[in-house]
Amino acid sequence: MAEDTIFHRIMRREIPADVVYEDEDIIAFRNVAPQAPVHVLFVPKKTIRGLDAAAEEDAALLGRLALAAAAYARREGFADKGYRVVMNCNEDGGQTVFQMHLHLLAGAPLGRFGAA
Ligand code: 5GP
Repeated sequence: MAEDTIFHRIMRREIPADVVYEDEDIIAFRNVAPQAPVHVLFVPKKTIRGLDAAAEEDAALLGRLALAAAAYARREGFADKGYRVVMNCNEDGGQTVFQMHLHLLAGAPLGRFGAA
């Protein structure tokens, strides 16, 4: 059975979140524990446990998730400076909320990904 996560509760407005974008398929809100000056989570409204659980039929939704993050970056004026998008998947990937989501991080130099 699909898991009911904290993000589902945010989508149902049962718990508050600082929502910065929403459309028919996607909601985006600020991370409660930001890892950068800008840290927004883009979440599909369709229940998908994580990237590993996404199917071929979710390809367009995955694309829209990334494009929604890019559009937000342009709207907020930090696209030219740059940003990072991350999806954590399962235990070794550091996933803690098992509803698929994309992290958008920006607002400061983020360093080389994976650099020591
Ligand atoms: P993950 O580790 O699964 O890739 O990312 C989950 C993220 O959700 C974490 O960065 C965590 O800070 C964030 N998070 C967990 N609970 C809440 C919450 O109740 N509200 C918000 N806005 N973010 C949350």
